[in-house]
Amino acid sequence: MTYEPSTMNTIRSHFPILSQTVNGKPLVYFDNGATAQKPQVVIDAINELHSSLNGNIHRGIHYMAEQCTERYEAARETVRAYINAAKSHEVIFTAGTTAGINLVAFSFGEKYVTAGDEIITTEMEHHSNVVPWQMLCNRKGATLKVLPFADSGELRVDLLSSLISPKTKLVTVTQISNVLGTINPIAEIVKIAHARHIPVLVDGAQGAQHGGVDVQQTGCDFYVFSGHKIYGPTGIGVLYAKEKLLEEMPPYQGGGDMVKTVSFAKTTYADLPYKFEAGTANYIGAIGLGAAISFINSLNKKELRKQEQTLLQHATAQLRAIDGINIYGNASNKAGLVSFSMERIHHLDVAQILDKLGVAVRSGTLCAEPVMQHYGLTGMVRASFAFYNTIEEINVWVEGLKRVKSMM
Ligand code: PLP
Repeated sequence: MTYEPSTMNTIRSHFPILSQTVNGKPLVYFDNGATAQKPQVVIDAINELHSSLNGNIHRGIHYMAEQCTERYEAARETVRAYINAAKSHEVIFTAGTTAGINLVAFSFGEKYVTAGDEIITTEMEHHSNVVPWQMLCNRKGATLKVLPFADSGELRVDLLSSLISPKTKLVTVTQISNVLGTINPIAEIVKIAHARHIPVLVDGAQGAQHGGVDVQQTGCDFYVFSGHKIYGPTGIGVLYAKEKLLEEMPPYQGGGDMVKTVSFAKTTYADLPYKFEAGTANYIGAIGLGAAISFINSLNKKELRKQEQTLLQHATAQLRAIDGINIYGNASNKAGLVSFSMERIHHLDVAQILDKLGVAVRSGTLCAEPVMQHYGLTGMVRASFAFYNTIEEINVWVEGLKRVKSMM
């Protein structure tokens, strides 16, 4: 199947949820940054497994268990190819971005971080890429340092070198800010950190949705993302890490499937990737994620990016034309989302009125309180676009904002 931008209905017809009405109005779904909708092929893949093929992986030798195992490992290979990892055992299935970061913060932290060490994060991170590092630093007596961003929304990469010290153990950074939309220069950040022999974790929660990654090209040491943000199911995600690091890091959780032998005297751990996949994995989620990636792969990626940029430019121009709206994040390299505030109108009121008009947007701190603090705000409104959104939907949303303004 190939995507033709001239026929938006073709792409939208793959997503059954988009054709419904909400509050009596046609749904306009602009909360793709929180979670993206699922194409029918993903829904079908999950339904098929639940209705006719469910068997626990890596255990049974019966038909269904073997089928699920085969498909689970095929999904791992699909993910490997999607992010261009060198080896499929560098792909660990997790519950999502948050789970992946916590895994690294615990396991990498156990191995490498001691009192007095430093971890560098940035001011534009989602809480998921702040709190696990704070917890690690509290546990170990280490310090969390913060690379700031400029008011424009651009990360101050120029300051990174001076923030790195002989005590720095890791740099962790988002590929794309979920508030500002900024697409960070990951390869450049990796280059700066690697020049000082410091590994880099990239939070790809938004990046995997807007353009993806080539982990070998960027050179990052860890890359994490969530299935539900790239048109796959919830409860599944991926941690990519370089083989050498995974070999050296201790397991995060113990249990079934992550062991070779167990006795009360001694337990030996399974090889990669299973060492980091304790317990029954979310194999149905992983297979669903594989289906989502295959769906994305069947589309024309260039056209998808173009559509998202068209939507971003149209949305930005429309917002700028309304008095009293402030946009946050004006980086020159920006993904398809716009966060803004309306003067003298609370962000929750904006989102609530839009909801009555069938328009779903996000409001609040966007799980990034430090970004709110940067601008002295308690919250923002965010519209985040996917390739299945349309210019007409943006116009409906903008009319809604004008209505909010006149009502309030
Ligand atoms: N990082 C970023 C940049 C995000 O946008 C999000 C979710 O919005 C997360 C991390 C957390 O993702 P999840 O809740 O799927 O673990």
